Formats: sequence, C-alpha cells, structure tokens
Amino acid sequence: MTYQFSSRKRRPEETLPVSLAEPESTAREGHWNHAAKRDLLEQISNFLLHHDLPLDARNLSFAHTIFSGDDLSLTRKVVDREEAGEAICQHWLEQVAQEHAKTKRDDPSLERVIDQIERAVVSFADTTAAAQSENDEAQDAMQKHVDEANIGGISAEQVLKLSGAVLTTLNRIEKSMQRSQDETLHLRAQLDKARIEANCDHLTGLPNRRAFEQTLEQFHRQAVANSEPLFVAICDVDKFKRINDTFGHEAGDRMLRAIAGVLQRYASPDCFVARHGGEEFIMLIRKQTAQEAFDCLDLARRELAGRKFVARRNKQAIGKVTFSAGIADVFASENPREALAAADAALYRAKDEGRNRIIQAG
Ligand code: GH3
Ligand code: MG
Ligand code: MG
Repeated sequence: MTYQFSSRKRRPEETLPVSLAEPESTAREGHWNHAAKRDLLEQISNFLLHHDLPLDARNLSFAHTIFSGDDLSLTRKVVDREEAGEAICQHWLEQVAQEHAKTKRDDPSLERVIDQIERAVVSFADTTAAAQSENDEAQDAMQKHVDEANIGGISAEQVLKLSGAVLTTLNRIEKSMQRSQDETLHLRAQLDKARIEANCDHLTGLPNRRAFEQTLEQFHRQAVANSEPLFVAICDVDKFKRINDTFGHEAGDRMLRAIAGVLQRYASPDCFVARHGGEEFIMLIRKQTAQEAFDCLDLARRELAGRKFVARRNKQAIGKVTFSAGIADVFASENPREALAAADAALYRAKDEGRNRIIQAG
C-alpha cells in the first residue's frame, strides 16, 4: 500500500499546530512546509487511486479529513475497514460520511449548549425581576386601600374583599418566583456541568486543549504579575502507532488513559496537566526553577517507563511505553506561543536523539 495512516511526522522547522491568537487551521496551514503538504496530497491521491474512487470534491474532502487527522473518529473507521480487509468503495464512503454527519448533528456542541443555558438563565432572571415588580405593585395597591380605609372612605367589607384579592395575587407571585428560582438553580447546575465538560477530554478525563489554552493565559498573566517562573512541556508518546497497529485502537485508547493517569499524579495547583490531542500531553509548571521543573517531568517519564503493560484482550505483553518531551521556559521566548514552539522543537530533538528523554529548549 502506498499510503499510510499516521499523523504527519514533525520536522525541525515546523512549529506547533496550535495557536493562541489565530484559528487552529490557519496556524496549522501557516506552519506546514512544502514537504508536509506534498505528503498529504500524495496520501490523498494514493488513497483515491488505490481504491479506484472518483476524483470528485466530496471524495477529495473525505480523504483530506482522514489523512489530515482533522477527525480521528472518521480516520479510525477507514483504518478498521482496511484492517478487516473489506472494500472501500463509493457506496461505503457515502454511507460512512452520512452516518458521521448525523452523529455530528445529534451531538450539539457544548459551546451551543452553554450558550442556550446562558440565555435561559438571563430569561429567568428577567422573570424573577418582573415578578418582583408585580409584587411591589400589589403591595402599593394594598397600602393604598389601607390608607383609604384609615380615612374612612371605604367599607370594612370592601377592605376584606380587596385584601383577599391582593393576597391571592401575592400568593400567585410567590409561587411563580419559587418556580423561577428552582429553574434558575437547575439551569445553573447544568451550566456548571456543561462548562466542566467543555474543558474536559472525554477519553482520559484530563483537561483538554481548550482548558490548556485558558490556563496558559491565566498562568502567564499571574507569572508576569508575581515575577514567577513558568515552564511549558510537551510530551509525545513514543511509537504509539505501533500499539494501535499491533493491539488495536481500543488497547491504544486504554493506554492513553493509563498514561494520563500517570501524568495526572503530578498535577497540582502549580502543575497543570492536559491532553493536547492525539498522543500528546502538555504540562505547565510554575513557581519552580528550571531544574525543578525538569526533574518533575523526568520523574513522570521514569515512572511511566518503569511500568510494563499487558493487552487486556489476549493478555499479550505490550511491554514498556515511554514518552519524549520538550520543555521550555515561557519567559525565554517573546510570548507563550513562541515558548510552545520552542518546547515542540525540543521535543523533536528528544525524538531524534533516541526517544524516552526530555530536552530543555534553548
Ligand atoms: P513517535 O515516536 O515519532 O511520536 O511515533 P508515533 O507512532 O507515536 O507517532 P505518529 O504521529 O506516527 O502516530 C501517532 C498515532 O497516535 C497515530 C494515531 O492514530 C494515534 N492516535 C492519536 N489519537 C489517538 C486516540 O485518541 N486513540 C488511539 N488509540 N490512537 C490515537
Ligand atoms: Mg504525536
Ligand atoms: Mg508519538
């Protein structure tokens, strides 16, 4: 087979496909060099030719999605199909694309859920405010009748009737306010849950890239304000594709969860750990010297490297799993984005020098 399912290999001149300032796709495009683009084009065309698929816009876009790694679940479907030795024909492609689009439609983005809930909360706040104002009006009306009764302009029977009406109104308002309050509390709880989910990686339970970007900004701001050191590290699992290829994607997923579990143990208010995407993890270490930050990361590396894994399905030994990492002083670069790129370049060197090691940028 002339194409390969693997995410692109890093080259030294490439920087991270992530940006704090610009949309991810633009940043990625900007950083891709010619060779990487040619690789991608070659994989796309080889795939379409190999399976004798028409060169139309839909197939080109489908092939781009699976080889660019933009949507790993789609890539996985194709890989599984190939591994099962079943034909990848136009009919199957259309079926998969349709199912995929439906799944995406049925799974509204958390951003949208948050937006809806936020709007509902505002609307309930309005209801509560309206009920409050109705309540005030009812109280004023009651006061007016009491005043009139005091000056003898109204009969006792009328006072009783009016008071009864005002009490009924107050009762109604109180009930509707209570309902509003209950709804608001319920929505707030949902909103909190959605906010947590939006920042969480579903596979590993670690904070995701979105959370990382927010935390990087926050840590950077605080580090500047307090003149404290801040380091960023990127960890990439070594030869991870081999695990998927040999033991299957499910084993790969379980392995990612296990690695996340190891890294998570090093998380603290001053050490933020997140899944950056794919088999990459990220750490933000603050208030530590360069040596301490390096040692913390190296401890995690050694802990993982010291473990031996076994495939659950057939009890086959997976063996040792390691990661390589690059670590950079955020203040040695012009901005956090540059620091990320420096950590990424150091990671590349760690891979180049034999993997299972950490390289300090600079
Ligand atoms: P290197 O040491 O150079 O980093 O080698 P590698 O095999 O780890 O690198 P490569 O980038 O070729 O492969 C990474 C693989 O990680 C490819 C991709 O299918 C897999 N991967 C990414 N995300 C997931 C995931 O969520 N689950 C599973 N099972 N695999 C994933
Ligand atoms: Mg990688
Ligand atoms: Mg890797």
